[in-house]
Amino acid sequence: MPANRVAYRTCPLCEATCGLEIHLDDDEITLIRGDKEDVFSRGFLCPKGTALKGLEADPDRLRKPQVRRGDTWHSVSWDDAFAEVERGLQAVIDTYGRDAIGVYMGNPSAHNLAGMVYNRVLNRGIGTANVFSASTVDQMPKHVSAGLMFGTAISIPLADVDRTDYLLILGANPFVSNGSLLTAPDMPGRLRALRARGGRFVVVDPRRTKTAEEADEHLAIRPGTDAHFLFGIVNTLINEGLVSLGLAEGLVEGFDEVVRLAAHFPPETVQNICGIEADTIRRVARDLAGVERAAVYGRIGTCTQEFGTISSWLVDVVNTLSGNLDREGGAMFARPAIGGPTAEDTGTGRGFRIGRRESRVRGLPEALGELPVATMVDEMETPGDGQIRALVCIAGNPVLSTPDSGRLDRALAELDFMVALDIYRNETTRHANVILPAPRVLAKSHYDLALYNLAIRTVANYSPPIVELGPDELSEWETMCRLTAVVTGQGSSQAAGEVVDDFVLSTLVQSAVKREGGIVEGRDADELTEALSMNGRRGPERVLDFMLRTGPYGDGFDAPGHEGGLSLAVLEENPHGVDLGPMEPRLPGVLRTPSGKIELAPTELIADTEDRLLPSLERPLGGLVLVGRRDLRSNNSWMHNVEVLVKGKPRCTLHVHPDDASRLGLVDGLLARVRSAAGELEAPVEVTDAIRPGVVSLPHGWGHVAEDIVMATASRYAGVNSNALTDGSVVDALSGNAILNGIPVDVEALVPLDA
Ligand code: SF4
Repeated sequence: MPANRVAYRTCPLCEATCGLEIHLDDDEITLIRGDKEDVFSRGFLCPKGTALKGLEADPDRLRKPQVRRGDTWHSVSWDDAFAEVERGLQAVIDTYGRDAIGVYMGNPSAHNLAGMVYNRVLNRGIGTANVFSASTVDQMPKHVSAGLMFGTAISIPLADVDRTDYLLILGANPFVSNGSLLTAPDMPGRLRALRARGGRFVVVDPRRTKTAEEADEHLAIRPGTDAHFLFGIVNTLINEGLVSLGLAEGLVEGFDEVVRLAAHFPPETVQNICGIEADTIRRVARDLAGVERAAVYGRIGTCTQEFGTISSWLVDVVNTLSGNLDREGGAMFARPAIGGPTAEDTGTGRGFRIGRRESRVRGLPEALGELPVATMVDEMETPGDGQIRALVCIAGNPVLSTPDSGRLDRALAELDFMVALDIYRNETTRHANVILPAPRVLAKSHYDLALYNLAIRTVANYSPPIVELGPDELSEWETMCRLTAVVTGQGSSQAAGEVVDDFVLSTLVQSAVKREGGIVEGRDADELTEALSMNGRRGPERVLDFMLRTGPYGDGFDAPGHEGGLSLAVLEENPHGVDLGPMEPRLPGVLRTPSGKIELAPTELIADTEDRLLPSLERPLGGLVLVGRRDLRSNNSWMHNVEVLVKGKPRCTLHVHPDDASRLGLVDGLLARVRSAAGELEAPVEVTDAIRPGVVSLPHGWGHVAEDIVMATASRYAGVNSNALTDGSVVDALSGNAILNGIPVDVEALVPLDA
């Protein structure tokens, strides 16, 4: 590669998929800026994008496999590391069986091409029931509600931000998060453009976030009551004759059930619960039904709460009843270039099920093949068949990001064996016996397999590696394939990993050539495999090429009528990406429910509403509650070791409204003790009127206090771990999602005013 060069790649750090223009001198980054020609982000980027430079140069980032012997860590060769993993995992499998291995997948897996291709293969290879991920401290409720309504976990209606006239945003702060379950780089620019063309957006959030500050209206809701608020809107739409199904007409099942339940939630009843006046609820409902094009978008605050799945469901009930489902400028469905379960217009399917099995200790339901991470610690601590004795932890730090973190920290220390795939020795991976590091970001290829399922435009953008692997580095896909080979008894050699990789591709190709009506139906599988493997190509690129070529815009391996279609070669020729246009109406073809209808009132949601939400109408209003918050320069727990992202005014503070501060004797800058049913911590107080009275807020992902982590910068800006307060014993009933917002707490001044 030339010494001084400019390369383009998609930022892998969050869901926005911004294009980066990266200037290099040899292999060192000299400058990162937004790629103005990127077809989706048009030059936008946030501070985290430029901080990639710091991440690449971070001296604490692990470069070689690490093995722990007692309390000492050693850098070892890849062969030695895999041999250690083989010994450790095999001993557990031989003694206790496969369910004794737990798997935890962290959030970065979803932003990682190798992870998206090979994680599932590894999990299947391990063959354990004990699979967990960050999804159950995040977005699982939306997968469940969308799955039950429309047929698959990724059948998520996306607010068509670029064409809407009115956007109702609940529990999301896209000026800071840049969009989540809604891939749309430069959300600030898109929301400002919405206003500039005469539209409006309204933010419902207990905090006056940056997004709320820029909104036409901010409704400071009481945490955990989005379901009540949304049912108030549904009630108004029905009672005022505002229901109009639009493109969903004739496709909706269960309307009468929704009418029956909504009758319990007149705005006058819910106003006291959610803290938003009845007249305001009615006005919002009328606006949603009255404007030409409107959409409701709910995110983390609506998911990580007591009624997460009900709230996520009601977002799309409102989208449907207000006539905005599948309408341009409303809430629409993507058609990703790589194909997938919703890409074709079949209009019916097997539907989506939850609770196909339950967790061993607490009987919590499976969703998407996973168990709720809130119960992972129970499965480690509780003796018996199926007790977790070893952990495979992939790019995750559950000690900071999941409930009951202190308990989990102790349980990890008791495991027989743990292997982590991670770039840091952090609060979780310090318990591992072996850490297998990923190479530097620039040495990896990238394509957002997951996030383009949620993109408001159909975009395909591939980033090749722009530096070569270092002498001690191994591609992530090789690491994952060799691990899969280990757990399937094929050894740990490079050759064994390649057998796994070949098997992955062969399974995909064989299935595609047999699929009736598919673009390569009846073709010769060997011929396709040979075409994909040209020039020795293998690994995730080969799989990606296959997905693109058999996807809805693919060339079908030169199939007649598909000439000029997508392939990896086409994307390689387009370093700024390929834009295939905005979302298009997809009903009824996008549906995958057995009925071929939109299930407006899934049985599970009706039952959960009756069992939990209706009784909550009679519940006395509680006291002080805790919510989380996100920061533009933070990315959960794992970017706190980059100085440029953490320096400056401390951000891990307890936000408290002035009225509460005065009542509780809390002083800005001094410490407060916060107690919940799960634990307690001490945090500096930040008094601000940007939070609703009765609510306090802490950001998550902090608390880098363990002595044996190797994250020097993060340790200097340690902060406190908000998950010390999260109670893992309560979860959202249907999705098993942890409840991170609306946690009852007591707060007291650690140094009383009169001391
Ligand atoms: S918004 Fe997300 S994708 Fe864009 S530069 Fe920032 S971290 Fe990267």
